[in-house]
Amino acid sequence: ANTMADEVAESRKAAAKKMEEAADAGEPTVFDKIVKKEIPSNFIYEDDDCVAFHDLSPQGPVHFLVIPKDRAGLSRLSKAEESHKALLGHLLYVAQQVAKQEGLVPGGFRVVINDGPDGSQSVYHLHIHVIGGRQNMCTPA
Ligand code: 5GP
Repeated sequence: ANTMADEVAESRKAAAKKMEEAADAGEPTVFDKIVKKEIPSNFIYEDDDCVAFHDLSPQGPVHFLVIPKDRAGLSRLSKAEESHKALLGHLLYVAQQVAKQEGLVPGGFRVVINDGPDGSQSVYHLHIHVIGGRQNMCTPA
C-alpha cells in the first residue's frame, strides 16, 4: 500500500527531476543568477572558474559554498565526465584554500556534495559545501 511517506518521497523525486531537466536544458539556476549578480551575495573568493559565498541557511558557525561559474553540464556530481576532472580538482583545491582564509584551519572542516534526490540536492548546479567552526555530526539538508 502507498503510504503518505511514499507519496511525499515520490513528489520530491518528481520535483527534483524537473529541476535537473531544467538545468540540463540550460535554464539558469539560482547559482547562475548569483554568479551574474542578479541575486545579491558577497563573494568571499572569486577566480576565472569559480566563486565562493556563504550559504543562506548555515548548518554550522561557518558554511560556505564553492561553485563553478560555468556548470559545463554538471547539474549534479554524477554527471561528471573525464573532461570535468580539472574543474573538479580545482573546486576542491579552492575549497580548502578558502577554508584557510576563513580561519577553519588548523581546526578543520567538513566537505559535502549532495547528489540527486536521495542525496537531498536542492540546487542543480554543482556545488561544494564547506562547513566548519565546530564538530559537525550531521549532513546538511
Ligand atoms: P544542496 O541541498 O543543493 O546541496 O544545497 C543548496 C544550498 O544552497 C543550501 O544549503 C541552501 O541554503 C543554499 N542556497 C539556496 N539558495 C541560496 C541563495 O540564494 N543564496 C545563498 N547564499 N545560498 C543559497
